[in-house]
Amino acid sequence: MHAAHFQSPAAVDSDPSLHLRLALTGAGMRRPAERFSKAAMSFASLGLADALVRAVTEHGYTQPTPIQAQAIPAVLAGGDLLAGAQTGTGKTAGFVLPLLQRLSVPLPRMPHPSKSLRRPIRALILTPTRELAAQVEESVRVYGKYAKQTSMVIFGGVGIGPQTAQLRRGVDIVVATPGRLLDHQGQGNLDLSRVEVLVLDEADRMLDMGFIRDIRRILSLLPSKRQNLLFSATFSDEIKDLADSMLDAPALIEVARRNSTVEIITQKVHPVDRDRKRALLTHLITSQRWFQVLVFTRTKHGANKLADELSRDGIPALAIHGNKSQGARTRALAEFKDASLQVLVATDIAARGIDIDQLPHVVNYDLPNVPHDYVHRIGRTGRAGASGEAISLVCIDEHAYLRDIEKLIKRTLPREVVAGFEPDPRARAQPIQQRQGRAQSIQLPQGRAQAIQQRQARAPQGNARSARRSA
Ligand code: AMP
Repeated sequence: MHAAHFQSPAAVDSDPSLHLRLALTGAGMRRPAERFSKAAMSFASLGLADALVRAVTEHGYTQPTPIQAQAIPAVLAGGDLLAGAQTGTGKTAGFVLPLLQRLSVPLPRMPHPSKSLRRPIRALILTPTRELAAQVEESVRVYGKYAKQTSMVIFGGVGIGPQTAQLRRGVDIVVATPGRLLDHQGQGNLDLSRVEVLVLDEADRMLDMGFIRDIRRILSLLPSKRQNLLFSATFSDEIKDLADSMLDAPALIEVARRNSTVEIITQKVHPVDRDRKRALLTHLITSQRWFQVLVFTRTKHGANKLADELSRDGIPALAIHGNKSQGARTRALAEFKDASLQVLVATDIAARGIDIDQLPHVVNYDLPNVPHDYVHRIGRTGRAGASGEAISLVCIDEHAYLRDIEKLIKRTLPREVVAGFEPDPRARAQPIQQRQGRAQSIQLPQGRAQAIQQRQARAPQGNARSARRSA
């Protein structure tokens, strides 16, 4: 496989504007297939078949988004693709539509017919979370409404039996999270040797969640001749290594979000004491009549506790995180989406891939210790061109986190003290526990507490497995 070489990925990684600049050099690279021209663009003009154009038109899309305008022709041309794009840009249709079209070409004849007569898996889409997998597969169904391909979703946390039965029947497109896919492989339920197209969606999130070994293992199960599409919002050295090793002279696409986050999302910090956060949140929700609020906590325990407390305050709230059953997560998400649930409390990992248009309010009940997570969190609001508000409730323990976030986004967030919730000027910082979500009860001397806090804030993502477990 051909190697792609990035220049200074660190500079890209720290870019706060969500506008990914792929600084790339190297022989054999193709520039984006076509430049996006808004005026002339339609789905049909991108070379998509009538059946696909009809499905997206019926779904209400009138014009391709910038990533679709660039990715669709590039993928149809059959080469590899490296795309810098976040959720919210329309990236899913950017790979699903051309993928469906490519699979409409009849299956190449096997020189040695497979022992099994069932239809082979022709496309594999890997995603970091169950929610994203489910949403992507739903998109495959929507966009493929008039196409002939079949699809299924594979993820853990639910019984393996129905998935096995579906695999046995044969399916064209599999959307999966890596762990459960490998479980199926281990049980002999899968044959990935005839995959023609591989998509890694939100590759940076997959690596953050510790999936690199699983991904490498899956790559080893695929035929070497295939088309690879890699989507990532940020570019770390790990992503660079992965792209270098799996992409062959990729087309390169970079897009900003459809909305420019900084302009459309209002960001604000409410300084508040740690033990008054819940009362402040209740006050904001009720006094400002917020009806659809996504609230982030750092831990699963914190999410459960807050959802219970809000419910006791008369505000319908549910928590979603990795310890909840898949059924409970799906139900909570569905209720939240149709606005019958007022508040959804989520941990970072559980919230990834949540796609709700025009989500008006995102609240950081706890600031994330990884500054990039702040950018991902607030990206859940102000989508599809709608305006949104991202509020952070910040207590003294989190000042180091706030400084790191402001350094990353290169701006100081406006502070606004809410009357009646003024922070106690004599309060002292306490270290933050990552796992249990409870502040330690012992009072440490301020200097030591701050040192611990700064270490926590600066610690790298840490042990990926523990990060996965704690979400
Ligand atoms: P994605 O980035 O793929 O998660 O898409 C974000 C949202 O944009 C989803 O709700 C899509 O349904 C919506 N969307 C995708 N493509 C278009 C389009 N061409 N026109 C309008 N909405 C779109």
